[in-house]
Amino acid sequence: MSELAQRGRNRAAVVTGASRGIGRAIVKRLAAEGYHVVANDIERQHEEMEKLRAEVEASGGRCDIAYADVSNPDDVASLAEYALARCGTIDVLVNNAGVLSVHKVEDIEPDEWDRMYDVNTKGTFMVTKALLGHFRQRKAGRIINIASIGGKRGGVGQAHYCSSKAAVISFTHILAMEVGLDGITVNAVCPGIIDTDMGRNNYRDEESLKKVIEKTTLGRLGYPEDVVGSVAFFASDDASFITGQALNVCGGIIFH
Ligand code: NAP
Repeated sequence: MSELAQRGRNRAAVVTGASRGIGRAIVKRLAAEGYHVVANDIERQHEEMEKLRAEVEASGGRCDIAYADVSNPDDVASLAEYALARCGTIDVLVNNAGVLSVHKVEDIEPDEWDRMYDVNTKGTFMVTKALLGHFRQRKAGRIINIASIGGKRGGVGQAHYCSSKAAVISFTHILAMEVGLDGITVNAVCPGIIDTDMGRNNYRDEESLKKVIEKTTLGRLGYPEDVVGSVAFFASDDASFITGQALNVCGGIIFH
């Protein structure tokens, strides 16, 4: 067995928002490392999730599916219960589920503001809370929140999204301080512009795509596979002395 496939051996991970994009790539990477992965998404993604399970299993990995809307407290309780029942113990939680829409402030409806916060911020908080007792009991756990560089420097038309991600970064810092003595690390990954359904909101045409690429130091867009290494790293033993950090994975759009 390769060194990579050993890293997650006898470990389990929960990944939210896994039907496509970055979440799907994270599931595949962690499963390739030997983690037993519980992949979450909303029930409407049934077909994609079954495909994901089949792909992971075909590569020799383990993947269970937990349908839950991370903004719904009852669903979140069931997600945690299911994950613990399937895996016995959970080592890693990746809060990846997220939503984005683009409107200038005067056009954001209050319900749309709430939707951003309910999924991106409250969802991250609720799934974390549902597994925190388990992590504390074990005196171990890796919590990895997928935030955004938008949470550090914002973006026009994304006040609701970017502020919800700034809150995720702040939540990461504070939670890290609260749980460090119980051996739990909490870190955030802040992707730049990644070529997913969501990322495409940033480049609707050739001209805007060119502008986005010009903003990067590496001269290209990111792909979901560009993000997974940082998640696998925060989950690994190599990151055992790293907590409360928010790492930009953005091709050099921003440097701090
Ligand atoms: P994506 O392609 O839109 O995928 C998001 C996933 O989350 C979808 O599978 C979606 O399911 C799921 N989801 C949405 N609401 C959910 C809920 N309430 N409960 C459970 N699952 C839910 O987005 P992505 O680009 O992969 O983004 C993944 C994460 O990275 C997000 O947190 C996003 O904010 C962050 N991020 C992305 C970029 C980028 O450029 N792509 C940049 C910075 C940060 P449905 O399809 O059913 O809605």
